[in-house]
Amino acid sequence: MDETTIFDKVISGEIPVDLVWEDSDIMAFRDINPQAPVHVLVIPKTKFRAFSELKHAEAALAGRFITAVSRVAEKLGLEENGYRIVINEGKHGQQTVQYLHAHIIGGKPLTWPPG
Ligand code: AMP
Repeated sequence: MDETTIFDKVISGEIPVDLVWEDSDIMAFRDINPQAPVHVLVIPKTKFRAFSELKHAEAALAGRFITAVSRVAEKLGLEENGYRIVINEGKHGQQTVQYLHAHIIGGKPLTWPPG
């Protein structure tokens, strides 16, 4: 069964978000529980339940998602000092929302490695 997620409801407008960018392919909005001074989520309007489903996507569609992430990071002013992109996948990746999303995290020096 295709489960409706929070991010389906963001796209339909049912759940309001702090939008930072929207175009025909993507939406980018601030994470409700930020882990850094800048924490933005980027979602494609075409639904994939996880990064692992992108292998079935047309390359052009997947490419537009990735280039959108890069463009949003620039718009957020993160290019000078850098930032991190995170895509959590599945159980071990601690994915909690079953709708593909990239986290853009920055605005401070980040630690490595992740836990
Ligand atoms: P993940 O653990 O990678 O699946 O990330 C899901 C992210 O969605 C978490 O960082 C949550 O804080 C975030 N989140 C959940 N609900 C909302 C919402 N309504 N608006 C913005 N971010 C949300």
